[in-house]
Amino acid sequence: MAFRPDIFWRSARGRCPDCNDDINPLGVSLWKKLFNTPMHCAGCGMTLRRKEGFFLGSIVWNYGLISFGVLPILLLCQANNWISTDHAIQIAVISAFVLPIFIHGFAWRLWIGTYYAFLPDQLPSSGRRLDD
Ligand SMILES: [Zn+2]
Repeated sequence: MAFRPDIFWRSARGRCPDCNDDINPLGVSLWKKLFNTPMHCAGCGMTLRRKEGFFLGSIVWNYGLISFGVLPILLLCQANNWISTDHAIQIAVISAFVLPIFIHGFAWRLWIGTYYAFLPDQLPSSGRRLDD
């Protein structure tokens, strides 16, 4: 099992991990482009939102981005007395509830990229069915 960084970065940039087409075609609003991952690739028809349980990977990415991206910054600010402890706690709680909504689409694309980068034989071009 070799990691394929090209597939990961392709997906993280909002492109199809299989055909490299833009997963949000022209005419889609910026809001949808940033925060939404469509059900299928517009270019090749590959299912991007697979069935039950597949979303758990995007939740892990979402949690990881906040836990290891946002919270250490807050701790650093609090440790250097740039913000008070109370404000750090308030910002952390608000971040924990609000940020997952805004990074959901990005976390989903990171998860698709992670999955197919480790398992490129699962891509439709490698013979997997399109409807799963
Ligand atoms: Zn595609």
